[in-house]
Amino acid sequence: MGPGPVNAHPRVLRAMSADLLGQFDPEMTGYMNQVMALYRPIFGTQNQWTMLIDGTARAGIEAALVSLTAPGDRVLVVNFGRFGLLLTEILGRIGAVIETVEAPWGETVPLEAIAEAIARVQPKVVATIHGDTSTTMAQPLDGLGDLCRAAGALLYVDATATIGGMEIASDRWGADIVTGGLQKCLGGPSGSAPITISDAAAAHISARRHVERGIRRDDIRDGNGVRIGSNYFDLAMIMDYWSEKRLNHHTEATSMLYAARECARVMLGEGLAARYARHAAAGRAMTAGLRAMGLTVYGDDRYRMTNVTGVLIPEGVDGERVRTAMREHFEIEIGSAFGPLQGRIWRIGAMGYNAAKHKVLLTLSALEACLRSEGFSLPAGEAVTAAIATWDA
Ligand SMILES: *Cc1c(COP(=O)(O)O)cnc(C)c1O
Repeated sequence: MGPGPVNAHPRVLRAMSADLLGQFDPEMTGYMNQVMALYRPIFGTQNQWTMLIDGTARAGIEAALVSLTAPGDRVLVVNFGRFGLLLTEILGRIGAVIETVEAPWGETVPLEAIAEAIARVQPKVVATIHGDTSTTMAQPLDGLGDLCRAAGALLYVDATATIGGMEIASDRWGADIVTGGLQKCLGGPSGSAPITISDAAAAHISARRHVERGIRRDDIRDGNGVRIGSNYFDLAMIMDYWSEKRLNHHTEATSMLYAARECARVMLGEGLAARYARHAAAGRAMTAGLRAMGLTVYGDDRYRMTNVTGVLIPEGVDGERVRTAMREHFEIEIGSAFGPLQGRIWRIGAMGYNAAKHKVLLTLSALEACLRSEGFSLPAGEAVTAAIATWDA
C-alpha cells in the first residue's frame, strides 16, 4: 500500500507467463496493434501514435524529452515536487535551457502563473507532472494545452502516477506527449512505459530527423552538425517500428507487452468511470480513516491525488519503526517520503489492484495497531468505521 510499485493484478501475472514471440511474428505485431488501440481510451486520446516504450516510466519520460528537445532549446518545467526536479535533471543532460515555474511542496501551480511564465520564457516545450507522488498533489491541466499552442510550444505530461487511477485527458488537455508506467494504478510490474504522441509532436520529431542517404537512420544533428539525441529513445525510430513499416529498432519486450496489454484489458473491462470512481472512493475512505484516527492529512485537499495519501507522522512517533512493524506483523508496506518530507509524512497508496475496500480497511487497522504499540493513543476502531461510512458516500 505504498505509492508504487504495488501488487500486480493476477491476470497480468498470468499473461506474462505466456510463451515468447519474435518481434516480427504476425501474432506479436497483432498484439502491438491491439495495445495501440487499448491505450487510446486510457490516455483519453485519438492519437495514432499510442504505444509502449520498453523500460520503466523514466524511459518514457526520457524518450519524450530527448525526442522533443535539442541542446539550446528553451523548456519551461512546471515543478511542484521531486518528479518535476527529475524533468529538469533529464533536460539538463540534453543541454536544454531550463526555466521553472514552481509551487511549494504540497501545492500545485496556478494556471495564471504558468501562463505568465510561458509569456516570459517563450519556451519550445512545456513539461509537467500530472500527479507527483512525492507530494501527493495532482496538477490541474485543463487549459494548459491551449496556452502552449497559442505560444507555439509543445506540452509534455508525465502521468505515471495517475494513469489507470485518475482521468488522463490527453486530447482535452491539449498535451502533445503523455507517458506512464504500469506499476502504479495500472496494476502491472514496472518495465513498460505507455506513451501517446500527438500528430503535431510526431511531425516535429520527424522533421528533426536528419537522414543522409546511406547513413545511419538515427543520425540527428544539431545546427552545428553535431550528432545528438538517443538511439534507444529515438521516438522517430520507435514509431517506424510500431508502424506497418515495422522497421527494426530494438527487440520488443514480449512479456512486458503481454503485461501492458492485460493491464489495459482489465481496466477497460472494469470501465474507465468505474475505475476512477473506485480510486476516488479508496482515497476518500483512506483520508477519512486517517483523520478519524486523529492524524493530519498532508497537502491541499482540493488538489490531492485520489490514489496516494500523505499523512503526517505524529509527534514522538518513529515513522520507520511503524513502517517496519506494518511489514513484519501485517505484510503491509506503506511509503516513506523524500526530500523536505522525509521523516515527516508517510505516503499510503491505494492504487490499481490495491484500491479495494478491504485493503484500505486492513491498512487502517494495521496502522492503528502499530501506532498503539508505539504508545500513541488514539480512539479505538474509529478509523475503520469512518472509512466504511465514507467509501460509499
Ligand atoms: C513513480 C513515478 C515515476 C517512476 O519512474 P520509474 O522509472 O518507473 O521508476 C515517474 N514519475 C512519476 C510522477 C512517478 O510517480
